[in-house]
Amino acid sequence: MDRPSQDFVEADFLEVFDAARAGLNRLLFSSGEIFFYTATGHGAWEATMVNLFSPGDKVLIIGGGFFSTQWAALTAKFGIDVELFEVDWRIGADMAKLQERLAADSAHTLQAVCAVHNETSTSIALPLPDIRAALDAAGHPALFLADTISSFGCFEFRMDPWGIDAVVGGSQKGLMLPAGLAFTAAGPKALAAHRRATTPRFYFDWTAMMERRFRSFTGTVPIAPFFGMVEAIRLIEQEGIENVWSRHHRLAAATRAAVRAWGDTNHGPELYCRNPARYSDSVTTILMPEGQSSDRLRSILLERYNVSTGGGLGSLMGRIFRIGHMGDLNEPMILGTLGAVELALGAAGVAHAKGGVAAALESLAEQG
Ligand code: PLP
Repeated sequence: MDRPSQDFVEADFLEVFDAARAGLNRLLFSSGEIFFYTATGHGAWEATMVNLFSPGDKVLIIGGGFFSTQWAALTAKFGIDVELFEVDWRIGADMAKLQERLAADSAHTLQAVCAVHNETSTSIALPLPDIRAALDAAGHPALFLADTISSFGCFEFRMDPWGIDAVVGGSQKGLMLPAGLAFTAAGPKALAAHRRATTPRFYFDWTAMMERRFRSFTGTVPIAPFFGMVEAIRLIEQEGIENVWSRHHRLAAATRAAVRAWGDTNHGPELYCRNPARYSDSVTTILMPEGQSSDRLRSILLERYNVSTGGGLGSLMGRIFRIGHMGDLNEPMILGTLGAVELALGAAGVAHAKGGVAAALESLAEQG
């Protein structure tokens, strides 16, 4: 990415741009149109909603954490009627209840069902094929939208085979890039909805984008992030996307084993997710014992060991911390992180059982 700037219409940059677009199509298992934005995930959410819906349309957003709530708040600002499908944040959405809700909408007032594949705040993953199955079982024609910001490049995601109409993604997680390049992949049903949608838009307008050679951006194309994206795609494909998913699964399982060991006795820290079927392989959210501040623990980790962990968002502020295990990460890196957390738990005087790192080692050894 660190290279002299050049005109974005030069032939050698066009090649890079097209390679980024084609690479995303391959890794998303998607034949959809890709629209890029100079934005983070919020920009991609906004672009997607204003391009697909009109004021007064109704969408169902599956709740479950800070990011789904944020997606709902953003959407409502555009006069789109949002129904937040409430769920227990520690369990994740109940598929039977979702199917009931869809079946009850016999007049098909819902234009879309929106799901955050990996809720980064709670580390709960949603089974997207089950949501597709719930829509099909109810014979519901709503669009199916997925936020893959913290799942893409981390664990299994397949847009076309799973019947997903539009996908929102970003550069800064599984793609291992700086924040600031986000995208939507839109399938044919989404593009048809776009043609009917009347929400005002200018910079983010897909129709204007499709009229350009780049089929993205209304103005200058930011070239630097594309060199990074092509390299990230190359690295992922060199390892093999399925191998990348398996690596993340191994590291996530080891992290969860460590947390279980710490919480085993003494009412120590525990996994926030109470539903093993929904564990996230991108990130693990850890609930502190009652009365203990996760922010104090996080400061010790950062100041003494130079280890940066995620904090609690919204209502979880101060109560949880999050260990990310996505992207450019291997066994020694996760073991180093878990070792630092175990030291910091001791230094912060947080009740916990010893042996988290040993449990992680055992988990890694078992997985081979
Ligand atoms: N969706 C998910 C699942 C996220 O994890 C994030 C950010 O971490 C967002 C949306 C919002 O993206 P951004 O912070 O890049 O604007």
